[in-house]
Amino acid sequence: MAVNFEFYQSVTQVLAENNVQLIAVSKTKPNEDLQALYDLGQRAFGENYVQELVDKEASLPKDIQWHFIGHLQSNKVKYIAPFVYMIHGVDSEKLLQEINKQGVKQNRIIDCLLQVHIASEETKFGFDGPALHEFLTSGKVANYSNVRIRGLMGMASFSEDQTLLTKEFTMLKSYFDNASKAFPNGQFDTLSMGMSSDYKLAISLGSNMVRIGSLLFGARNYAK
Ligand SMILES: *Cc1c(COP(=O)(O)O)cnc(C)c1O
Repeated sequence: MAVNFEFYQSVTQVLAENNVQLIAVSKTKPNEDLQALYDLGQRAFGENYVQELVDKEASLPKDIQWHFIGHLQSNKVKYIAPFVYMIHGVDSEKLLQEINKQGVKQNRIIDCLLQVHIASEETKFGFDGPALHEFLTSGKVANYSNVRIRGLMGMASFSEDQTLLTKEFTMLKSYFDNASKAFPNGQFDTLSMGMSSDYKLAISLGSNMVRIGSLLFGARNYAK
């Protein structure tokens, strides 16, 4: 087992002091690794693949809060809608509509984060700044009775250039501050940014939820 308990203990302490929530990103990792962190008190886990998440949910403790952090296809929402705690990668109105539809069916209100495209790479999904603004000021959000938009999620460029990462995180934080004005009821409280390589920088720039995988569970092996 490759769980880094020392890192877990030290990072949870620092995050708690800063009011930042840890999502333990467990994709590709075996149930025993998740159970080991669960036994230390971790409840929020992040997964990227629908089938893997469905299998893990079925065999791990029922009070785990499952965060879906990957790219979600509309036709797969129904599989996770009965239990998912928060969906981070909502990158289109079409997807939000489907989540709402499944939420109605399940008689649940599903917490969502809108994904914003901040990286320089073309391949990352998400709303861009103008599209986000247009969507949030359109009044359409009010039509979705069974989703609750809790905030934003973004992924910075795959880069070690601190100036570039700072620019991208700062941009996301400013979108977040702006967007929160569309939700005067205070529900819009979550800014999910930062992963193993950049979580410290993300926190210093206003993140309050980090998604950490490899530092906790070791490098992932996608081949097996
Ligand atoms: C895999 C993944 C992470 C975790 O990445 P690490 O670098 O292993 O910490 C975080 N966020 C998303 C969206 C991911 O897909």
